Amino acid sequence: MSVRVRFAPSPTGYLHVGGLRTALYNYFFARHNNGKLILRIEDTDRTRYVENSVENLIKTLTWAGIEFDEGPHVGGPYGPYVQSQRLHIYREYAKILVENGWGYYAFDTSEELENARKSSPHHEFKYDRYKMRNQFTLGEEETKRLIESGAPYVIRLKVPENQDIKFIDIIRGEIVVNTKDIDDQVLLKSDGYPTYHLANVVDDHLMKITHIIRGEEWLPSVPKHILLYNAFGWEVPAMAHLPLLLNPDRTKLSKRQGDVAVEDYIEKGYFRDAFVNFIALLGWNPSGDREIFTVEELIEKFQLEKVNKAGAIFDIVKLDAINAKYLYSKPIDELAEMFAYWVEKRGYKGFSKDYLARVVALLRERVKKLPDIIDFAPYMFERPKEYDREYFAKHWSGEVEQHLKNLLNIFKNIEVFSHQNLHDEVMKYLNERNLKLKEVIHPLRLAITGLSYGAGMFETMEVLGKEEVIARLEDFLTRILPTLVEKK
Ligand code: GLU
Repeated sequence: MSVRVRFAPSPTGYLHVGGLRTALYNYFFARHNNGKLILRIEDTDRTRYVENSVENLIKTLTWAGIEFDEGPHVGGPYGPYVQSQRLHIYREYAKILVENGWGYYAFDTSEELENARKSSPHHEFKYDRYKMRNQFTLGEEETKRLIESGAPYVIRLKVPENQDIKFIDIIRGEIVVNTKDIDDQVLLKSDGYPTYHLANVVDDHLMKITHIIRGEEWLPSVPKHILLYNAFGWEVPAMAHLPLLLNPDRTKLSKRQGDVAVEDYIEKGYFRDAFVNFIALLGWNPSGDREIFTVEELIEKFQLEKVNKAGAIFDIVKLDAINAKYLYSKPIDELAEMFAYWVEKRGYKGFSKDYLARVVALLRERVKKLPDIIDFAPYMFERPKEYDREYFAKHWSGEVEQHLKNLLNIFKNIEVFSHQNLHDEVMKYLNERNLKLKEVIHPLRLAITGLSYGAGMFETMEVLGKEEVIARLEDFLTRILPTLVEKK
């Protein structure tokens, strides 16, 4: 039997990081087994529908490198893979359930349901099919009459009483749930739309899904789905419910503690391969302590049986560490290409690829993400707007000013403006006067960058180039310095 799996998001706005993990595990599993991966849009809850989210989902999944074999954008044998375009199918199957005694019509108004809910002890409402307004209490004749008169109705699942439902979850092992804890689910709503349960089961069957891989939050739905599979006489697919994603304090991952949309992480400048690598390790590790894997390796090593039951912590510190490893190992040319996008986005124009490559080479080991270089060293793209006053107060004196003036003249005469030559010339100047490097290096850094920290100063000057360094030093000595001295 060839493997067919699906990712079945609801278009409620954006792709959640947990959704990406589910999509990736489905993708790894499909590719590992030479199977097919299907994208299905579950949009039957119209109250949660958000405009453009299908396009966004597809865009983000494509960014992550996930390729679908069938889906709304690639087509396939099962018609549109968008549930709202398959309503006639679910209606037909809901009718079959009524005919074979597994489903029944109910006519309760929302008010009646609300009252029943309110008067139920401890608010543990369970639909009582022998008390409410439905096929059982009204009888066949009246039911038929109501339907023909156009009265709104829903179709509910007739859940058998006190029956154990058993199933095996690939990650969690055997699970047993008694039907006394299961409500008579609505399967078809009064607006003619199916609920998640009906549409999900019907589609997984019709689309010949062999393995259902999804988040743990869907585990409570499984017994209801198994009743449906039984009611239709269909085989139940294999199932694997992936562990919850947690905040570092072990609470459920929430927007309040950080970003949960994949788009937010793209915006922040994480690399696609690093982010996918990080997400893939939430709940599974192919081998011991190793952390860096290519997608090909993840596909090759993926085993559902090895996924953990326990919740996985979404740890930004770890994400940053993984991203930094990619940043330190990617070819500079490739990084310069990507960096150009961020530099431009921040409004800096006119920098050559060659200059950007040198900036990246100089600074990448000081940050975790490519665009962070711009925040760390804005002076590589514009003259300093401010100067660190504390640093100035600590390192400034009249003598220092004289040294900088002398060094400026020396710099003007350096033909090849390399960090080595800069270093040698400065050392020569200092040795002649019996001075230490620290007496001029901090003032130089301040004058050229405005800041108290950064990469090696001679290397920084080399990348900025002779013309720029000289211009900055001249400007500093003539225009900036008096304002700083005044306020010192
Ligand atoms: N539509 C559900 C969701 O939004 C899919 C759950 C499932 O995979 O069965 O996650």
